[in-house]
Order: sequence, then structure tokens, then C-alpha cells
Amino acid sequence: MTDRYITEEAFGPFVNAMIASTRVIGPVAKRSTFAYEQLESESDLRLDFDVTVLPPKKVFFPPAQQLVRFDGDTVEGCIEPVDTVLLGVHFYDVKGIDMTDFLFRANYADYNYLAQREATTIVASNIQAISPRAFWDSVGIEVQPKGHDAFLTKIDGGYLLETKTAKGDALITLGDFREATAGEVQAAREVNAAVMGRCPERLAYSTDAVATRVRESFGEEEMWDELAERCFSCGSCNTVCPTCYCFDVSDSWNLDQKSGVRTRYWDACLTREFAAVTGAGGSKENFREHHSSRFRHRFMRKTTYLNEKLGGPACVGCGRCSRACTADIADPVRVITTIMERTS
Ligand code: SF4
Ligand code: SF4
Repeated sequence: MTDRYITEEAFGPFVNAMIASTRVIGPVAKRSTFAYEQLESESDLRLDFDVTVLPPKKVFFPPAQQLVRFDGDTVEGCIEPVDTVLLGVHFYDVKGIDMTDFLFRANYADYNYLAQREATTIVASNIQAISPRAFWDSVGIEVQPKGHDAFLTKIDGGYLLETKTAKGDALITLGDFREATAGEVQAAREVNAAVMGRCPERLAYSTDAVATRVRESFGEEEMWDELAERCFSCGSCNTVCPTCYCFDVSDSWNLDQKSGVRTRYWDACLTREFAAVTGAGGSKENFREHHSSRFRHRFMRKTTYLNEKLGGPACVGCGRCSRACTADIADPVRVITTIMERTS
């Protein structure tokens, strides 16, 4: 694992060499937003992005993914992992991927997720622009969480590439790198340290205090009704979240009525039908019928329910939900601050 330097002039040819040898997915501009997409050329790459609309988890856990094909008693898997370099992932999203890695490995290993995850090399990159709703510097995440194979930092005149794994090391052969000097390593450290404390939003409470108080607030029905009053159950706050991992599975049958395909789709706990079930004798039940109980459930999941498993909150402070919510009620900083102030 090494620290390498590449000049700005040599960086474009390095990205093009990666594109020539494998699938490369990175942030590209989409009008006024950014999205992770397959790169055709280095000129598509926008490492100065602030945040992407959807998180990079979509590379391993696509919004719709065929799981198995069946034909009578024959069932075959559809897993076809593609060697991929995922280039330009901010550290809060690396942390999100680390969480989904854990969740898809725990209990029952999810081979569909893990196969593509294993086939992917993650190159993190330093944050050059900060999203207007971000608060990642107040949720206890370090600039270098685990999960990435290399970390790219833009410094004066070029880039420092810190490799963390053999997959990261393998990229070096594709570019005109030289060993980095101590000064360049220090410059990269300073660039990464400088973003901390610059998020426009801030959680003023420790994650432990938040976990305790949010859990204690479960029975504050009036407060939750008020917080969720304008929620129209669209599920956008779930869809854009790097740590949401719920899915639904459905079978599509061919006309022969014996063959078909099983597909999974992202699901969203804020939607009305998420907790609707059919019981014995066809009885119907929705155990989170009201939008405020669904809204509360999401905040319980993000701040307290998963903390023990994940070693901290299931929120990385990306601010995507705040931006995606048309009613502007999903912002975790505002919701948590209200809970902390009202229940003190
Ligand atoms: S809850 Fe919101 S801010 Fe937290 S990780 Fe999910 S989308 Fe990002
Ligand atoms: S909180 Fe906002 S984004 Fe989430 S379901 Fe309700 S209206 Fe939609």
C-alpha cells in the first residue's frame, strides 16, 4: 500500500486508461445535479461534485435487479458481476457502503450484492464542494473510513493516490505515477482536514445522546404527528439514502405459466403500503398505517435501532434526504434538534 503522485496533465490519460481496461463509474453532471454513471471519457468525470442524487450503493444494489430465472423445477441465478472501478466516492458514502456491506453480509449473505461488491474497486476522493444540506462532520465519521481500495486527493498541480488494498495498487500500472514526497502526503492530509467543520448544517448533540433521546421519544405521539404533518408518503427520503437497504421481491411469469424471473426492487418504509400485510383468512393489516408512525420509524432506524450493530448511527450526514423532500420535513438535523429541545 503506497502513496503515489500523478500530475494534473497525466491524470486524464490515467482515467482513460482505466476506461479502456474496465467499466468505470464516477460522478457526472446532470444539469444542476450530479449522478454516478458509467464514464465514456475522462472529460465526463466531475470530481468537483458536491453530492450525487442517488448514492453509489446502486452499483451493488441496483434499484431493480433480477435475482433468479425459473422454468418449472429449474432455477438459475442471474448474478453476472462486472469488473468495475467506482471512482470518486466521498468518505461519507464510503462509510455508507461499509454499512451496507455489513448489513448484506450479516445473518444471510446476500450473494447478489456481494458478488458485484467483490468485483468493484472503490477509489474514494476528497471533497471539493460541500452540499448545502450536508452535516457529515457532526455524525462521528472519519475522513478515511474503511471499505475503499484507494483514496485520491487533489493537491496543487496534481493528485495524491493512497492505495489501501491490492486492488488499489493494481490501478497504479495504468497511470504515470511516481512515489509521493513527504510534502505531498502532508498537503493531502491538510486538504482533507480542511473540510471538517465546514458543513452548512450541524448536529449539536453526541450520537449517543441522540440515540437515547430519540428512542425515549417514541411515545410522544403529538410531536411525531407535528413533525410528519406535511409528509405525503412519497418515499423519496428512503430512495436517496445511502444506508437504506429494504427491498421487495416479485415474480414475473411468462405466458407459459411455468417460467419467469424473480426481481427485487428498492422499497421505502415511508410509503403507505410498506407495512401492509395479509393475514390468515385474507385479513388485511397495516402495522404502520399513519404517516407519522412511518416517519417516526425512519428516524428510529437512522438514529437508534441499528446503532449497536453498526457501531454508530445509520446516517452518514449526506443531506440527500433533506434535498429530496418536497415538503422539506425530512432533514435529520432539524428533526433531531426538535426532539432534543422538546424532550429535554
Ligand atoms: S438519513 Fe438522510 S442524511 Fe442521513 S444518510 Fe440517509 S439520506 Fe443521508
Ligand atoms: S418525509 Fe418527505 S421525502 Fe420522506 S416520504 Fe415524507 S414527504 Fe416524502
